[in-house]
Amino acid sequence: MLTKTLPFNKQQIEEIIKKYPTPFHIYDEKAIKDNARRLIKAFSWSSGFKEYFAVKANPNPYIVKLLSSMGFGADCSSLPELIIAEKAGISGDNIILTSNNTPAEEFIYAKKLGAILNLDDITHIDYVDKHAGLPEIISFRYNPGPLKGGNAIIGIPEEAKYGLTRDQLFEAYKTVKDRGVKRFGLHAMIASNELNADYFVDTAEILLELISEINKSLHIDFEFVNLGGGFGIPYRPGDKSLDLEYISSKIKEVYDKTVLSCGLKLVKIFMESGRLITGPYGYLVTKAIHKKEIYKDYIGVDSCMADLMRPALYGAYHHITILGKENEKPVKKYDITGSLCENNDKFAIDRMLPKIDIGDILVIHDTGAHGYAMGFNYNGKLKSAELLLKEDGTVKQIRRAETIDDYLATIDFSGL
Ligand SMILES: *Cc1c(COP(=O)(O)O)cnc(C)c1O
Repeated sequence: MLTKTLPFNKQQIEEIIKKYPTPFHIYDEKAIKDNARRLIKAFSWSSGFKEYFAVKANPNPYIVKLLSSMGFGADCSSLPELIIAEKAGISGDNIILTSNNTPAEEFIYAKKLGAILNLDDITHIDYVDKHAGLPEIISFRYNPGPLKGGNAIIGIPEEAKYGLTRDQLFEAYKTVKDRGVKRFGLHAMIASNELNADYFVDTAEILLELISEINKSLHIDFEFVNLGGGFGIPYRPGDKSLDLEYISSKIKEVYDKTVLSCGLKLVKIFMESGRLITGPYGYLVTKAIHKKEIYKDYIGVDSCMADLMRPALYGAYHHITILGKENEKPVKKYDITGSLCENNDKFAIDRMLPKIDIGDILVIHDTGAHGYAMGFNYNGKLKSAELLLKEDGTVKQIRRAETIDDYLATIDFSGL
């Protein structure tokens, strides 16, 4: 069984807390870099392979810049995310705008940055043409509908709001080709937090076969296929990580069978993962401040769902370690709760853990993606700080905690 480990111990965290009080998310720079290298190595057979980090998963420009230094691009889905990518020093076709229901300003800004536009609907061709002018390179998002089963978080493709149908794709590429677009890509994202490796091989096969067909019918060469994100991570101690080397070797087989045997020009393989890239390498560090025994036993911590929504939102499992009690037996059953006036504000329900005392430091694992990013201010809860545990062991604060002034900043009190 895989166990969950930490890149720090109790003593190190106690030192950090002296300067940066709990709660905070802390990201492990070395592990993020090692993981990035592993992904690049797994796809080294594929010339031009690129991962565009899904900024939405961890929209901190320090993290985005760190990933850019490893050769990654940025996948953005809003204007602020485009600006974060820009601030991190990323530009041109190292940015993809994969958005949906997109307002004109975003297309205009993305085009100004030279980003690749990944369009979500056939009507967006005219919309982009009117507001920003069509760029040289365009990609479309494919929704395979009944041709593909779905998975739990993203749902079945037929019910999903994203992408173009198969027939629309042929029409869309023809339209943009006729209007002078020169370079083409195809995108799909049909999974979320998926741990079945074959799912991604299937996606690659669907896309690569489709571009062969579109190539035959419209005589256009594709520069890339984008497999999307959705690569899962092992949140539970027993989960197995995705075998990237296996996925890559299977995709190579599909590539040889489609692109090479059809005589297509080189097609680059892109990914736009978030969770896979940073998810396992972030930790929410929080302190036990209350202990309550009623019909159940509760431990109240100084963090809440403002800092990590996944358990409340999806019933997601996040592993919890009590610092200094790593080797103690799980003898007590607890609900670990935040302070929101919502009964689902719990990081864990009926979790067997070592006996917890007030003042204990709890580390909630796997918060490096869709953790801080998803938080909100409901109930006047302020979002935590973000720290980077650097390769040399030092710690840098990469975002301070929110203050009450931040929370009130959008109100003009002079009108009261
Ligand atoms: C959310 C999202 C991603 C990233 O998803 P992960 O599960 O973090 O890999 C990538 N692309 C698109 C279009 C998304 O909506």
